[in-house]
Amino acid sequence: GSDLQGIKTTAVKDGDHYVINGSKTFITNGQNADLVIVVAKTDPTKGAKGISLFLLEAGTPGFDKGKNLKKVGMKAQDTSELFFQDVRVPADALLGQEGMGFVYLMQELPQERLGIAINGLAMAESALEHTITYVKERRAFGKSIAEFQNTQFKLAELHTEVEVGRVYVDRCLELHLQGKLDIPTAAAAKYYITDLQCRVIDECLQLHGGYGYMWEYPIARMFADARVQRIYGGTNEIMKTIISRAILAD
Ligand SMILES: Cc1cc2nc3c(=O)[nH]c(=O)nc-3n(C[C@H](O)[C@H](O)[C@H](O)COP(=O)(O)OP(=O)(O)OC[C@H]3O[C@@H](n4cnc5c(N)ncnc54)[C@H](O)[C@@H]3O)c2cc1C
Repeated sequence: GSDLQGIKTTAVKDGDHYVINGSKTFITNGQNADLVIVVAKTDPTKGAKGISLFLLEAGTPGFDKGKNLKKVGMKAQDTSELFFQDVRVPADALLGQEGMGFVYLMQELPQERLGIAINGLAMAESALEHTITYVKERRAFGKSIAEFQNTQFKLAELHTEVEVGRVYVDRCLELHLQGKLDIPTAAAAKYYITDLQCRVIDECLQLHGGYGYMWEYPIARMFADARVQRIYGGTNEIMKTIISRAILAD
């Protein structure tokens, strides 16, 4: 959830093992995964400094996969619940150092958020391509939909916004390759591009008319798939708290 430090899963040291108890509700590819990284509290009194990461193999006693959750979109990938009940893992299943889990997660989050932004931008570009083809083919009032000024202006606006988005994402990618993509910059990419993606796809669906609401048209699937991009990887509201904290810092 948004409150990462509020996680309740625990890992308690027991001789040369840790015993893990807890659960995780939304895990992408949870059904298919045969190795998962579990975030658990090794010291609940220490807040972020009491969080550690563990490697856990599927099939370990006490580790159960719940059902494949039924989603609005993104149906080609599974999203699962995972349950941990008295799961014993050897001490060397600890990933890195004890108490450093939160730091490790923070280090990797910019890459995850950049990945979401890249995906969002690609989807927005693809939606535009499909729509440009469609409006040239579909006819109403004796002309193609592309000949209406509303269509032309909408496409011009969306094209411009997507181009601007691409410049920002390319810049973030450049920074990432240099090892310089910081948390607020990646948060801005994630929030801005996924908002843009949803806006572009919504407008593109509108230009498809009723056919845009039918699964046989790719824009319908894009519409359903896009929505979660503003939620996972940290919600866009959480992205804004990260950005504002950085710009208001002394
Ligand atoms: C399809 C899917 C796949 C996922 N895959 C994974 C995965 O592989 N791994 C993983 O770890 N997680 C995964 N998640 C979880 C995802 O990251 C969380 O759903 C997301 O971070 C939001 O947490 P939440 O659902 O608990 O919402 P909540 O935290 O309950 O938030 C509810 C609402 O409150 C708002 N809110 C919360 N706190 C604040 C605040 N401080 N200020 C302002 N607004 C706030 C949120 O923005 C949101 O609008 C997945 C989720 C989905 C839907």
